[in-house]
Amino acid sequence: MQKDFLKEVRRRRTFAIISHPDAGKTTLTEKLLLYGGAIRLAGSVKSRRAQKHAVSDWMEIEKQRGISVTSSVMQFDYNNYCINILDTPGHQDFSEDTYRTLMAADSAVMVIDFAKGVEEQTKKLFEVCKMRGIPIFTFINKLDRAGKDPFELMEEIENVLGIRSYPMNWPIGIHGNFKGVYNRQKSQIEVFNEGKHGQTVVESVVGDVTDNIFKDLVGEDLHQQLMEEIELLDVAGDNFDLNKVLKGELTPVFFGSAMTNFGVRPFLEGFLEMTTPPIARMSNKGEIDPESNNFTGFIFKIQANMNPAHRDRIAFIRICSGKFQKGMSVNHVRVNKTVKLAQPQQFLAQDRAVVEEAYPGDIIGVHDPGIFNIGDTLCQDNSKVEYEGIPAFAPEHFAKVYAKDSMKRKQFVKGIEQISEEGAIQVFKRPHAGVEELLVGVVGVLQFEVLQYRLEKEYGVDIKMQSLPYRHVRWVEKENFNYDRFSLTMDSLIAEDKYGKPVVLFENQWSIQKVEERNPGTILKRVSTK
Ligand code: GDP
Repeated sequence: MQKDFLKEVRRRRTFAIISHPDAGKTTLTEKLLLYGGAIRLAGSVKSRRAQKHAVSDWMEIEKQRGISVTSSVMQFDYNNYCINILDTPGHQDFSEDTYRTLMAADSAVMVIDFAKGVEEQTKKLFEVCKMRGIPIFTFINKLDRAGKDPFELMEEIENVLGIRSYPMNWPIGIHGNFKGVYNRQKSQIEVFNEGKHGQTVVESVVGDVTDNIFKDLVGEDLHQQLMEEIELLDVAGDNFDLNKVLKGELTPVFFGSAMTNFGVRPFLEGFLEMTTPPIARMSNKGEIDPESNNFTGFIFKIQANMNPAHRDRIAFIRICSGKFQKGMSVNHVRVNKTVKLAQPQQFLAQDRAVVEEAYPGDIIGVHDPGIFNIGDTLCQDNSKVEYEGIPAFAPEHFAKVYAKDSMKRKQFVKGIEQISEEGAIQVFKRPHAGVEELLVGVVGVLQFEVLQYRLEKEYGVDIKMQSLPYRHVRWVEKENFNYDRFSLTMDSLIAEDKYGKPVVLFENQWSIQKVEERNPGTILKRVSTK
């Protein structure tokens, strides 16, 4: 029993995939599923829908806008590893969602477009990754097309992102003449055969770099150029240091083309060799060993109405230790109650399936009857373990929101409440005001559109939104606080959060200082402390 459990934990690899939109994250994810045998023909999902959207897209809004709004989860096996991929939204307005997803991942894969290099969102998402301190692997994509000089690209990654890099492999032939990759650690060349437009796994010839066969396969000139580049890399570049990789200080770089499958397998295998199984996580009781028997996990994402037919709400749990079994009851530590984890599901390539058992590193979804919050810990025994919380980003955009039809007030309030519990928006209210008119704060303005769209689609409520000029929110800490005696500036607004705690919305930093000065004994905080 125990032996099987350990085997399962140790074969788990859980990573998040990030990129600037259009760099090829969806395509690479799909190709990884293809190599894992989880789908039989890449592109089949896309062509059926006649759109550029693949298996990881769930919400209709994504199709409309061409951006991934929510993160999704997929599991597949490869070479006896059990891999969990967490997809993340590329658009910066959803970086909060990305951050929560990264909390559930043990490492990250960053996809970069060979022609475009480090783009705006790559930078932002990379920063979010860095905050987590997890290993970051780089896949440079679209080598089948013209792009930058690989040496310059390496330099760009180091300069713009501020992380050292180590090319694990090196491209042979660029600018539309991509033939293969050179594996630096094995001193091996892998030359790919033209496949069926990347629909199926691509065949290749692998061998020692000095083998004459490669001079024929790639041509004398390219071979010669490669030999020179290898030498240059060896003298000029960083040394490989796995410890630095694991600390997120050095990013291993792979070259390839997700579209043609060239370099997908070398990347996957190289990545799997370097990543670790789930590692111990910090909690209020110290580090929790994933191999301990006590089942623990935390909720990093809540999503309502994923399946419009069922009007369900799902809480996503990252399992951190112990074994999950269907029908299990666990301690919901924050509210100190025993709850049964109902309708547990796992997410396979294109489907959801009922999960019988799951292990550390896995992500499962359970039915949420409205009792879970993001960051909640679940724990099998009575040890009251609580994992470190997931910080909420302070909203930077605010709007006044109300239902167009006052008869729809109930659905309006319910919709807003549920969407705020998912962490997509934060809700405030003017003191003494009713719930007809709410103030909504978001980190990125696109979240307003998502709110509007979802309220209409999922709750049947048309809303009106009036954007407000505020850019900052501060929680007020003051003894004997009294709304009427609190002195504000002309351009600030007092309100309360969903727990009834006072907050002030500000247009600029200057007013924050002013209000602090005018109300002695007041501390204005960036985050709410419960
Ligand atoms: P995402 O927004 O990062 O998920 O990007 P997608 O995977 O949707 O890819 C964006 C576009 O780039 C699509 O039209 C893909 O077909 C294309 N694409 C993805 N990978 C490659 C590649 O390796 N080579 C080329 N030429 N195009 C690619």
